[in-house]
Amino acid sequence: METFKMTADDICMMDPELAIIPVGSLEQHGHHLPIMTDWAIATELGKRVAERMNAFLLPAFPISTCREHMGKKGSVWMESTTFYQMMYDVIMSLKEQGFKRVGIIITHGGVFIANPLVRDLNARFNPDLQVAFVTPDSINVESITETKGLHADENETSQILAIAPETVRMDKAVDYMPETPRSYLNYGSIFRASPDGVWGYPTKATAEKGERILELATETVVNEFNKAFEFMSNKEKIGYSDF
Ligand SMILES: [Zn+2]
Repeated sequence: METFKMTADDICMMDPELAIIPVGSLEQHGHHLPIMTDWAIATELGKRVAERMNAFLLPAFPISTCREHMGKKGSVWMESTTFYQMMYDVIMSLKEQGFKRVGIIITHGGVFIANPLVRDLNARFNPDLQVAFVTPDSINVESITETKGLHADENETSQILAIAPETVRMDKAVDYMPETPRSYLNYGSIFRASPDGVWGYPTKATAEKGERILELATETVVNEFNKAFEFMSNKEKIGYSDF
């Protein structure tokens, strides 16, 4: 059950301690995938993880930080500092209403501000609040995909074929593996590395692989969150701090 479809009374009865915040992005995904791709994956994965963990699920946030996709209308972002502050405020509102744990599921690979965000929150508020997060790099899909990729690739295309097949234009899918290192997205937009805005081999995608990836991702995220919360709960003071 997606808790955001429930009434506040029902949520109070359930009284969850864990909130799940899925974070997507609106950005170009080549010629064949919709701009909602990361948001659609965040929505689906968030639902599955929240169900497994009996958690309060927030609706997936549609916009984060994807400035590296500039160059085509359809990509929409906010400043990293705005994202930090927005997430900080949202998580504080959860804390003030009694949530003890927050799990952030980020399905866009470029939200680097999540690192200091999570670090700052835990250093300031643990044990009253614990925050864990995962990114696409946390999920090792290589046991399922034939190829490696980064964006609009076999992995993402397979997942959208499973979640929203009516939005995929497989006839427009183009494979492209840039020579440029990923870190060069700090120096120029993705279109300098890949003229089609693709990083990988989407033509290898199938819906069946997509469903398997979603199952694996759910399992991985649940495990990673449990491990991180356990790690943060078993802490002794070292020197002047308990972080
Ligand atoms: Zn994506």
